[in-house]
Amino acid sequence: MLKSPYHGGHLEVIVGPMFSGKSEELIRRLNRAVIARQRVAVFKPAIDDRYHLTHVASHGGRVTPATAVISTAQVRALLSGQGELLHSEPSLPDVVAFDEAQFFDAGLVPLALELADLGVRVILAGLDLDFRGEPFGVIPELLSRAESVEKLTAICVVCGAPATRTQRLISGQPARRGDPVVMVGAAESYEARCRVHHVLGE
Ligand code: ADP
Repeated sequence: MLKSPYHGGHLEVIVGPMFSGKSEELIRRLNRAVIARQRVAVFKPAIDDRYHLTHVASHGGRVTPATAVISTAQVRALLSGQGELLHSEPSLPDVVAFDEAQFFDAGLVPLALELADLGVRVILAGLDLDFRGEPFGVIPELLSRAESVEKLTAICVVCGAPATRTQRLISGQPARRGDPVVMVGAAESYEARCRVHHVLGE
């Protein structure tokens, strides 16, 4: 059976703001791979414990099993059999997926490329822009190197237009440009917004 339109390994990237359905789309692709009896490994950064430490969860409630990791070095170790992830499986999975890819370290790019060169279908989902509207971490390079890119939009909570940005609110007020991307302990929330309604605090 043909696994994908590509011969051998390749990179697929799914990006967009929060609530754009990246996790839903990732879970959809993974479910289809499982139906095709392919072996799947899913990783997410350990700092994202949105719903479960060991699942990718969409805002709509769909879940798929995942392994929370602290670094790409840990992913390498798990894929090479030094851990429980692959249940002693000696060979690489057919599909390796990364959710919240923007939070991974720079080692994600060479790892993804190596896996693709070894014949693995690599799927990476993540935010293309941070709360300031700036390119996020390793995502720009992954977008350049991917065979396939899907850029999703959410719905702007202010006007209902397609939303391409993630609005960060701290105690209900727009976050300022200088605020750190990760702010531990702050009463913060996020909304999907279009270009017009995305604002930074003074
Ligand atoms: P992402 O991974 O991009 O954050 P999810 O796949 O987790 O997105 O969630 C997408 C779901 O979020 C949608 O199917 C919808 O049910 C819900 N949702 C909540 N707010 C919005 C919004 N403003 N625009 C679009 N979808 C939204």
